[in-house]
Amino acid sequence: MRCPLCHQGMETAGQSLRCASGHNWDMAARGYVNFITNRRGGAPYDAASFDHRRRFMQAGYYRHVEEALAQALIDAPPGPVVDAGCGEGWFSARLSEAADRQVMALDYAKEAVQRAAGLSRAVCWLVGDIANLPLKDYCAAAVVNAFAPANYAEFARVLRPDGLLVKVIPGVRHLQELRLAARGQLPEGEYSAQPVAEHFARHFADMSRRTVSMTLPLTQEALDDLLRMTPLMFGVDLDAIDRSLLSAITVEAEVLAGRA
Ligand SMILES: [Zn+2]
Repeated sequence: MRCPLCHQGMETAGQSLRCASGHNWDMAARGYVNFITNRRGGAPYDAASFDHRRRFMQAGYYRHVEEALAQALIDAPPGPVVDAGCGEGWFSARLSEAADRQVMALDYAKEAVQRAAGLSRAVCWLVGDIANLPLKDYCAAAVVNAFAPANYAEFARVLRPDGLLVKVIPGVRHLQELRLAARGQLPEGEYSAQPVAEHFARHFADMSRRTVSMTLPLTQEALDDLLRMTPLMFGVDLDAIDRSLLSAITVEAEVLAGRA
């Protein structure tokens, strides 16, 4: 790892990490290191949404996405995986179990990483900025970036030359029943994964693309979690939603994998 302030290497010193310039980063008792010391303003997210997301994941609605992610990583060389933008950590923890690799998982939202740290002791949990990863050059065999913003220059910096970037983005039919049930409250227009894929390919040219999709019945409990976990619905009047259209939900993802 490297210090995000001065970019020098760090060593463990008791319950903290310390760089050669003397910057000191404490490990929280809950099992993560916080590299964000100057977050301005309030949190731009609803922290409770992380709990809803966790329960929805636990109910198995993203299992096919987890499996596709693990399969994509088979093509990565041996070595550590960085989950950049890990949120509440579900995919990172599953990867750590399924792929039997060292996983370092990072998100800007401290409230998300606090929740993530309770999931797995095997994962190295970090609160940090994807534009300034606290990681040395060429340390990662793979970078995972699932349903999160990307920083391709920074991903390329931490990836080994033969390393693999795996990005997961919503498919065209992702949550289509929810979009229909909330129509009139959401911005109009067809979503397309194409611009994201093209942007990816400009940075990681040798790209493969795979779509996975499942439509699963929704329990009332899962529906409540779904309505409160997705940024798509933030600001939507949930009482005005036509729940009769939500007996099932489609979870569709595109998995992009590429090398620089
Ligand atoms: Zn430093």
